[in-house]
Amino acid sequence: MPTESANSALQQKIKQRLEFYEDLDLAPFYRDRAASLTAHPAIEDPTVPKAASKLPSQASTPEAVQVAAAASVAKSFVAPVPAGPSLFEVAEKHPGETLLHVREDLGECTRCKLHRTRNKIVFGDGSSQAQLVFVGEGPGADEDAQGLPFVGRAGRLLTQMIEAMGLQRRDVYICNVVKCRPPGNRQPEGDEVESCSPFLFRQLDVLKPKVIVCLGATAFRTLLQSNRSISHFRGQWLDFRGYKMLPTYHPAYLLRNPAAKADVWKDLQKVMAELGLEVKKNKAK
Ligand code: SF4
Repeated sequence: MPTESANSALQQKIKQRLEFYEDLDLAPFYRDRAASLTAHPAIEDPTVPKAASKLPSQASTPEAVQVAAAASVAKSFVAPVPAGPSLFEVAEKHPGETLLHVREDLGECTRCKLHRTRNKIVFGDGSSQAQLVFVGEGPGADEDAQGLPFVGRAGRLLTQMIEAMGLQRRDVYICNVVKCRPPGNRQPEGDEVESCSPFLFRQLDVLKPKVIVCLGATAFRTLLQSNRSISHFRGQWLDFRGYKMLPTYHPAYLLRNPAAKADVWKDLQKVMAELGLEVKKNKAK
């Protein structure tokens, strides 16, 4: 039996995901699913608290409605269940662990001044077989402490975005333009990008992804070798060394501007279509 604190943590997680779907304008989708669940009730899920097992139409208070809707999302969302190999691990693209070679060449790098203040190098994380690569700007405090990309608040949002696509983090590869944290989370400077970006290019050449998503202006400008504004190109397919590349907003920007989540979701739907992933309709007909 789940403990009270486990139930509370589960409810909190479900509420956060529900708010994320509300932000993405997906509410009509899961409400439709909730209606179909009313017609065909699912088998009771022992991990969902009793109060949360009520469907919206059966709930009597606003809070109960929210919890019940969240429970419906938890039951109906086609989300990632860690039950087998990654979606992309079945297709071996690059024999040999050449990402390891790139990492070995990077070593305990001192090629730019960012090495002086870093705690850990943040090389990248995810599947070496990934067809989808997210490229961000650089590590923040949480990433610098853990040595992993996108594990702070913005990282949790990116994880939610990946899961909303029907994928898991282990299905994709996530890395940054610079591998060491710029002090105070400032933007990386030109010389730092120049020193570090060759390793990003080598990572991409090893991965040979079907799609690269640039998260924010620094990634976009580095890959496109341009100083142009991301706002003119956001959501458009571009070419990077023969790879399809799509720039969109950085999750940190979305934390400051939640209204932009809808634009990013549209961009991610384009990526899903390109990768042959099922694109859910997010509007009630
Ligand atoms: S940011 Fe890149 S080039 Fe600079 S020290 Fe870190 S790993 Fe080396």
